[in-house]
Order: sequence, then structure tokens, then C-alpha cells
Amino acid sequence: MPTRSDLKPLLSLSVSGEVSTKSAQTRRRFHRQLRGNLGAALRQHGYEPRIVDRRDRIDITEVPAEAAPVLTRVFGVQAVRVAHSMGWSSLDELVETGVKLFAGEVESRRFAVRPRRVGNSGQPRGFNTDLARRLGARLVECGGQVDLDDPEVAVHVEIRRHDAVLFANPLPGPGGLPLGTEGRALTLISGGFDSVVAAWQMLLRGLDMDFVLFDLAGPEQVSGVQRVLGELDRHWLAGSRARLFVVDFRPIVAELRNKVGGQYWQVLLKRLMMRAAEPLARRTGAGALITGEALGQVSSQTLANLGAITAHTDMPVLRPLVGFNKNEIMDRARAIGTFEASAGNAEFCALDGGRPVTSGRARDLDRLEGSLDLTLLDRLVEEARVIERSEFGRIEPDEVSLERVPEGMAVIDLREEQAHADWHWPGAIQLDFDRACRFAGALPKDRDYLLVCEFGLKSAWLAETMRREGFRAWSFRGGIRRLEAHARAVGVDEASASPAA
Ligand code: ATP
Ligand code: MG
Repeated sequence: MPTRSDLKPLLSLSVSGEVSTKSAQTRRRFHRQLRGNLGAALRQHGYEPRIVDRRDRIDITEVPAEAAPVLTRVFGVQAVRVAHSMGWSSLDELVETGVKLFAGEVESRRFAVRPRRVGNSGQPRGFNTDLARRLGARLVECGGQVDLDDPEVAVHVEIRRHDAVLFANPLPGPGGLPLGTEGRALTLISGGFDSVVAAWQMLLRGLDMDFVLFDLAGPEQVSGVQRVLGELDRHWLAGSRARLFVVDFRPIVAELRNKVGGQYWQVLLKRLMMRAAEPLARRTGAGALITGEALGQVSSQTLANLGAITAHTDMPVLRPLVGFNKNEIMDRARAIGTFEASAGNAEFCALDGGRPVTSGRARDLDRLEGSLDLTLLDRLVEEARVIERSEFGRIEPDEVSLERVPEGMAVIDLREEQAHADWHWPGAIQLDFDRACRFAGALPKDRDYLLVCEFGLKSAWLAETMRREGFRAWSFRGGIRRLEAHARAVGVDEASASPAA
């Protein structure tokens, strides 16, 4: 009879069904990649695993059971079983071991025993049923209650010719294909909820990828994307060779503001992003671009506009969220762990030119594009900053944002008059964004300025612009809501705040 010391603890993984049905050669390649990614994931968390590929499962030893959650975030893993393996020769041995392992777990709970023979285990017919009956009866004596339809604890016994693996309640993995088996792509990432979820959906299908951010708003926006990528990296990028390219698109924003009517800004901006992304993608060996667009989510994502945006793009553009509802995207963001980071990143609205065109007439766009200096694009892509994966999550050193209001700063409220009248920081000067863009240069330079807007991006952008002109300027991080919360926290109350300063 085996003693507990004959039992070997291990984490035993089942691999996506999609992988197992591939040809032998492809399966070998996919498994090799998967083993590499598993090792990378575990080492990233400080473990030194031993990984043994058994074709129908992958066994990992030398790591504690607490490492299991790490493995549930490796693409291609169907389920993670915190298991014990044992050599066996009789039914009695299996029953006794099952009792030892699971008596505590089934006590006062509904359970089912689920034996499964793997390969040709050489046992007579009826062996599984016998095992289930006998082990089940013993576990009932230990205080469990049999429920085959809806058990709280499913006790699994996988029986092979010479060994058996026992485990309860496997943890689900993401499934999909091992990261890196389907080539590379370039994801356009903006820091919002959508683009990182889009990236995740394609990572799930085996693509490795780089990311590109078209920087419209300066360090604040780069930090925002960094926070999101930091989360993605912490949970999901094991085995990836991802990089982030940051292309300074502020000169393009200026071109558009100067030369094109506001209703075209959004669609043209997206089209110029595609124009810039494509050569970058080729340079990085990517075979596709990925975006977080969803049909009809915003007016720049009508069918006509989606078409117009990529009218001059030759490379395949993958839009994995095209059929997702916004709430589904948010749920997915929560599940993959990027929700909080994205929630902190507001939309940049310095290119909020009123209602965007929704027909996106390609001819109009071609003509308007003709009036822009497109040679800028090549230069800006050429000068892109490269951030390696090891640097993901780093906050920009020259971020202009503050989370408090230092003594003596002049607070400038960039919102419209009405919003300012509803609530503002005591003494804040109201100067709406458009006017501020035009007149900020005339402000006295001997003061320190703290700008605040709806979400904190316009203010960051303007603070930076002012700095380049020699001002000492900052932005309040997160915008007016955060400022209100801060006011409550430090005891600046409505009474002192409401009389206009
Ligand atoms: P997200 O939640 O990803 O910010 P969104 O719903 O706000 O997306 P848009 O701002 O219209 O939608 O952008 C659509 C897609 O275009 C994004 O999902 C992203 O892939 C890409 N994109 C938008 N802005 C940028 C940017 N500044 N840099 C890189 N890609 C961008
Ligand atoms: Mg966006």
C-alpha cells in the first residue's frame, strides 16, 4: 500500500483541444513554444520549474501549488490541475490514496468521483465504475455527499498503465494557442479599455506583438499606456518579445488643427495612424495591424469610416472587437486585469472637433490629406522611441501631473463657464481650453500654473506646451472629479469653493 511519500505533488496541465488535434509536427512545435512560455511565466514569478511534456498533458514539478494561478494565464493551457501522481498496481491502492487526498476536501460538501482512463491503461471493463463506487463510498464515510450532477468537489482520477494522476476541481486556463505560434502583429494602443482587450484577444490566438502609441498628449498619455502595458505584462506576456514604439504625433495634431475642418479630425487622424503604422509594422516583421475598434461604438467607427480609415492600408487590419458590445469589452478588461489602469486614462480631446463625419467619404479624405504635409509621417516614425518589454509599466520621468494643489499656485480651470460655475477649486481662474490654447502665451511667466480640465489630458497637453514656451506649468491628474475628491480630502469645502473667485 502506498504511503503519502509515494505521492508526487505536481501541477499537471491539460493543453487546448485545438493544439492536440494538429498534425504531429505542428503539435511538437506548439508544445515546444508552450513549454518555453510556461518556463518564462514561472521564472518571471521567481520559480525554477521542471517541465515534463507527456504529450497528453504537461507536468510541472519543483514548484509549490501556489504557482498554479500563474499557469492559468498562459495561452494554450486549457486547465491547471493541482495534482498528485502515483505509481499503482491495484484498485485498492487508488481508493486508499483517494481517501487520503480528498477526505478533508469533501467533508460536508457535495462531491462526485470522476475516473478516466487515458490511452491503453490495460484495465478490464468496469474498472472505472468500480473505482468510482468504492472511492465514493469511502468518501461518504468521511462526511461527503454524492452529487453527480452538480458537485462542489469533482474528484478526478486519471488512470494510465503505470501511473495515475489525482486532483480535484481543476482551474480553468485561457485556452487558445501558445503565444508566438501564429507570428507577429503590431497593435495600435491608446490606453483606453478597447485596444488592450483587442491585443489580448489576438495574444489568445497565438500572435506575438509589438505596440505602437501615437503620442497626442505627451508624457501623461505615455505613462497612461505604460500603466496598461505594465498590467498586461504582469499577467499575460510570458514568452513575448513585445516592445512599445512611441511616435510623437503632436505635429500631426497641429497640422490637422491648422488645415482641416473639425468634423474630419477624428477620421483623418485614424487614417494617418494607419499610414504611419504600416511601414513600422513591416520593419518589425509584423504581418498585421490590430486595433480596438468596434462597429458603431463611436461615430468614427461607422462602417463607412472603418472603411475610409484603412482605404490606403495594404496590410491586413485585425479588429477582434468589431462585434463586441461595450459592456462585454469592460467585462473582459476586468477579467484580464487591465480595467483599473484603463479607467484612469481618459480620452484625449484636443482633437474634439464637434460631430465627426460619419459617411467618411474617401474622396473628401483624399483631398484633405493632400493639403497636409505627409512627409512629416516618415520622419516621426523614423524618430519613434522604442521601449523594451522590461521597461513596461515605467512612469515617464517628465510627467507633468500632480495629485495635490501646492500652496501659491494659480489654478486655471479649462472647462466651460457653466461647469466652472457648478464647482471649482477656490480661486481658480476659468479659461476654457480653446481660449487657453490661444492666450496662454500672454500669461505672466513669474507664476506657477496648475491646469485642470474634465479628465486631465487636455490640461497635461497644455501644461507641456506651456513648458516648451518657458512657463512653469503642471496638470491635475485625472481631472475635475479627482480634484473634487482631493478638495474633500483636504477639507476645502463647497462653501469656500462656490463663490466665484
Ligand atoms: P480605446 O478604448 O482603445 O482607446 P476607443 O473606443 O477610444 O478605443 P478610438 O479612440 O476611436 O476608440 O480609437 C480606435 C482605435 O484606434 C483604438 O482602439 C486603437 O487601436 C487606435 N488608437 C486610437 N488612438 C490611438 C493612439 N493615440 N495611438 C495608437 N492607437 C490609437
Ligand atoms: Mg481611444
